[in-house]
Amino acid sequence: AREELFQAQKMEAIGQLTGGIAHDFNNLLMAVMGSLEILKKRLPKDPSLMSLLDNALQGAERGAALTQRMLAFSRRQDLNMQAIELTALIKGMMDLVNPSVNGAAEITLSLPEHLPPVISDPVQLETAVLNLVVNARDAMPNGGTITIRAEEYDADPVADKLAVGRYVRLSVSDTGEGMDAETLERATTPFFTTKGVGKGTGLGLSMVQGLTEQSGGKLTIDSRKGKGTTVSLHLRVAEGAELHHPIEVPQPIAMTE
Ligand code: ADP
Repeated sequence: AREELFQAQKMEAIGQLTGGIAHDFNNLLMAVMGSLEILKKRLPKDPSLMSLLDNALQGAERGAALTQRMLAFSRRQDLNMQAIELTALIKGMMDLVNPSVNGAAEITLSLPEHLPPVISDPVQLETAVLNLVVNARDAMPNGGTITIRAEEYDADPVADKLAVGRYVRLSVSDTGEGMDAETLERATTPFFTTKGVGKGTGLGLSMVQGLTEQSGGKLTIDSRKGKGTTVSLHLRVAEGAELHHPIEVPQPIAMTE
């Protein structure tokens, strides 16, 4: 629990930092753009001067668009919890999955026909699955098989460390390089990546873990060096009543200044 708290605080801090920087940059860029617009109007209409000013303006506009994206990232995501038919969701996102794998691996689906709906945010869940598929692909530079599987089970509060009830385990497995003990331990830590500069952000698994926990479930990782990895999202089955009442999910920890 201490580790979870630490992680939640880190994510919160990162969000605040990003948001703060983006906000200040945005203001600066607005001032730059405003001054450039005034210069454009007041300077003599020399074509070479104008094209220089246009270049500067375009650069500032691109910078402003970037800070907008950073602001969107830092804003706390409001999760839209719903009862989700996993089989339909996974099948429906294959046109997203296939191009991401792009023939680099074979994809197998193992989805039972009668699966009870689970509780989560469908849009975020798609992003989560896509993250896992991309990780699986990256772990198999020489190809292999990615299996997306879903199965229902009864949680044992002691063994599974989950509230009693029905769950669906949604897992993405690969036959790739696997993780060593240190990587496995740090895999869900924000910004931890072994992929190198410009290739990995180290935010994928921490996002997936955050989503599953906010959905009242958990994330588990099974990995063996040289054999492969299975990342599983354990998601609560939506009971009838819950479909009409918002479920209680742990609130993200707020950091005070
Ligand atoms: P990123 O993919 O940007 O590195 P993640 O948080 O998704 O960030 O993953 C963190 C690290 O965990 C990866 O850099 C990699 O070392 C390891 N990892 C994640 N998924 C797998 C996998 N399927 N097989 C092997 N290693 C993995």
